[in-house]
Amino acid sequence: MKLPTLLLPLLVLLPLTVQAVEPLKLSLPTDNRALFDGKPEDFYMFVFRGKSKAWTAGQYGFVRNLITTDKEGVIATKFHEGLDIKPVKRDRNQNPLDEIRAIASGQVVYLNKNARGSDYGKYLVIKHDWGYGPFYSLYAHLARIDVELEQRVLGGHPIGKMGYTGVGLNRTRAHLHLELCMLSTVNFADWLGAPTPRGNYDGRNLIGLDIASLFLAAQADPKLSIPAFLESASPYFKVAIPREGELEITQRYPWLKKGDHSKPSASYEMAFTDSGIPLSVVPSHRQVTQPSLTYVRTTRSRHEHYTRGRLTGTGRRASLTKSGKKFIAFFTNEYTKAKTPSE
Ligand SMILES: [Zn+2]
Repeated sequence: MKLPTLLLPLLVLLPLTVQAVEPLKLSLPTDNRALFDGKPEDFYMFVFRGKSKAWTAGQYGFVRNLITTDKEGVIATKFHEGLDIKPVKRDRNQNPLDEIRAIASGQVVYLNKNARGSDYGKYLVIKHDWGYGPFYSLYAHLARIDVELEQRVLGGHPIGKMGYTGVGLNRTRAHLHLELCMLSTVNFADWLGAPTPRGNYDGRNLIGLDIASLFLAAQADPKLSIPAFLESASPYFKVAIPREGELEITQRYPWLKKGDHSKPSASYEMAFTDSGIPLSVVPSHRQVTQPSLTYVRTTRSRHEHYTRGRLTGTGRRASLTKSGKKFIAFFTNEYTKAKTPSE
């Protein structure tokens, strides 16, 4: 069948003007597939706790620094922002041999080839765009990096070799540390108030998602998008911030905008998970002159333990700590305003 010639230019233009949402098409970064086989103890690298080996500490989430609380028994208070994946192949000297591969198509945006330059050791970052803002996969503790800066890679493309570079690692505990992250700010050096050798690709500026759950959810639903995945996360706290123009984070991730943004409002209310993943930005009539906590989940121990020290207090009484305020400044751009000379 012959298409009317009038339609042809339209067909050519369409893919350029409408950014389609693409399926995640995630693949595991090594030959270790035990995550999908229901054998987490074979998937995660353990940490030593006394003489015992705790594989649970290789998971994403609050899995480390166990403390005993009055009301909730033992809880883990230190957050692990990624997955520690065990090697499946070692040579006779116990060096890991696992090839590391990109978890999805993207572009290499950062390489740290200096094993001593970071807690991550040798690491690299790949930027992915599935049609709803940039996401960044991070591969750490590598023995070797096999890609160049700005190189485009397909999912499954070899990018390096597993190792044990970085602080506090040894051959026994060699593993791949894998993260999938959102970016807090494009002005990280300004936020830090110091030059940053890693540009914006510093762990402090990357917000790690629950990537093991994402792998499993995407396997069950190949059409899953990350915004849809985050719909199932519940907020731990909400903060109202004065509204002064659109936030940089919602320019980057427009799906964070909920409610009616077309009319003026006094403030925005931002919702976060316990670990600090932004879930929504909603216009609010609340009058605030500085970031103020408007909601907190009621838990039975101190909020410090659940929020990486960003909140303090217990139960319904909570406030932002100094580090909590610094964290919120990622989104308010207070750091850049302070630097702008007055007009
Ligand atoms: Zn790790």
